[in-house]
Amino acid sequence: MDKISKLQRMIDESNNIVVFTGAGVSTDSGLKDFRSKDGLYKKPSPYPAEYMLSNACFYTHPEEFFEYYKENFNCLDVEPNITHKYFKKLEDIGKLKAIITQNIDGLHTKAGNKNVYEVHGTIYRNHCIKCHKEYDANYVFNSKGVPKCNCGGIVKPDVVLYGEALPEKDYIGGLSAISKADMLIVCGSSLTVYPASGMVDNFNGKYLIIINNTKTPYDYKANLVINDNLSKVFSKLK
Ligand code: ZN
Repeated sequence: MDKISKLQRMIDESNNIVVFTGAGVSTDSGLKDFRSKDGLYKKPSPYPAEYMLSNACFYTHPEEFFEYYKENFNCLDVEPNITHKYFKKLEDIGKLKAIITQNIDGLHTKAGNKNVYEVHGTIYRNHCIKCHKEYDANYVFNSKGVPKCNCGGIVKPDVVLYGEALPEKDYIGGLSAISKADMLIVCGSSLTVYPASGMVDNFNGKYLIIINNTKTPYDYKANLVINDNLSKVFSKLK
């Protein structure tokens, strides 16, 4: 039996499917991933990319931080692709119970999925660091320079920067969903960013599936590994 038919059979058999996604899920929507050879981390920037996206950069060089952030993370016009839409369909028929995503692009929510844990936050929520007033993503991306609240505080995107902890509610919720799942499909993540990747260790169900264009450190634990383009894989599934 070929790998796609195997995957289809496992999906048909499972009733508590959880999906864990990384940047690779969004590349077919036109977004860049981080670590591959054409990824964001290879692009020139005033400081190394990991510093540009750190909490230290946000507080000490806010102008540079926002210039980089607005240039690279404005995905307000980006649309969900075939993989996001497949997961929406799986949720609608009651098989998919939760999505845990490392992506901050909000595309699973845009595709219509209801139970999404965004463990690295989202560009769609932003708040003033002084008075905590909330602002939408348009406000941040359309502001000139550093986005400011009317109280004078900086408006900070609710995305997890280097040096910051994961949002507790999403992290705990995601862990709980994984621990109850009978099938876990990991998609488009190289599973190298800790601690989010370690969430996979909480899976005790029947089928662990990894679909990614490169190898991951968890491949040896998986029941099925598919190294292929995600849209290609998901366009063949019912
Ligand atoms: Zn404020």
